[in-house]
Amino acid sequence: MRVLVLGGTSEASALAEMLAADHRFDAVLSLAGRTANPKLPSIAVRIGGFGGVDGLVDYVEREQVDVVVDATHPFAAQMSAHAIAACQRADVRLIALERAPWAAIEGDDWRHFSSVEDAIAALPDRPVRVFSGLGRLSLDALEAAPQHHYVIRVIDPILRPLALANFCIVTARGPFSTDDDIQLFKEYQIDVVLAKNAGGAAAVAKIAAARALGLPVMMIDRPYIPERPVVSSVEAVIDKLAEHHASPAKRGV
Ligand code: NAP
Repeated sequence: MRVLVLGGTSEASALAEMLAADHRFDAVLSLAGRTANPKLPSIAVRIGGFGGVDGLVDYVEREQVDVVVDATHPFAAQMSAHAIAACQRADVRLIALERAPWAAIEGDDWRHFSSVEDAIAALPDRPVRVFSGLGRLSLDALEAAPQHHYVIRVIDPILRPLALANFCIVTARGPFSTDDDIQLFKEYQIDVVLAKNAGGAAAVAKIAAARALGLPVMMIDRPYIPERPVVSSVEAVIDKLAEHHASPAKRGV
C-alpha cells in the first residue's frame, strides 16, 4: 500500500522507521526542506514543496498514493490545509497525526497569543532578556522588537544577518532536558520565554524550566486547521493503515 507521510517532526521520522520495517507498506517521507541536514529514515524521501494543492493532487495521483499521513508540525497549518483539500479532490484517505497540546499546570505563568507577532508586540518597551524557542521560521518577527536581548535556539546555524541589537544563537536539536534548559536560562539570565504550543516531549523542557524558575511564558496557541480525521500516536497511525490495508474495497481492489 502506497503511503505518503508529510513530515518535519520527530513523530513523522519515527513513523517512517516503523513503516520501513513493515512489508505491507511502501512509504515515502516528504520534507519541506527547511532543515539543512535532516535525519533521514530508511524509506524513500522527497524534499521540497509540491506546488500548492494542485501539485499535491498531481503527486498523489501520479504516485498512486493510497493514504496520506499528515505528520507535520501543528504550526504547519498551510501544509495541513493543502493535504485536506488535495485528499478530498483526489479521493484519497487522509490520517492526521496530531500531538496533544501542552496544558498549563500549577506553577506555570502563561500569557496566550494567537500569533508570534502579537507575542512580540506584547513584550515590554524596555529591553528584557528573551529566550526564543520559536524556531527559525519566526526570526523576522523578533526583528520587530530589536531592543531586547535574545537567546535564539535553532537547529541549523543562521546564515543571514539579524537586525537585532543583542542576540546569541544556540544551535541544538532536541530532545532537550529540563535540567539543561534551567541551566541555559540561568546562564543567560532569561526574563521571559517565547514558545509555540507544539506539544510532545522533545521541546517541553523549556516549559518545565520556565516553571521551575518562575519565568513567564509567552505561549503562541495553535493555528486553526479545518476538521480532519486525527489520531494522537504513531501506533494509532499504523493501526489505521493496517485497517485500510485489510479492506480491499477501500483500496479499489
Ligand atoms: P507551512 O507554512 O504549513 O507550509 C508552507 C509550504 O511548505 C507548504 O505549502 C508546502 O509547499 C511546503 N511544505 C510544508 N511542509 C511540507 C512537507 N512536509 N513536505 C513538502 N512540502 C511541505 O509549513 P511550515 O510551518 O513552513 O513548516 C515547514 C516544515 O517544517 C513542515 O514539514 C513542518 O512539519 C516543519 N516544522 C514546522 C515548524 C513550525 O513551527 N512551523 C516547527 C517544526 C517543524 P507547497 O505549497 O509548495 O506544497
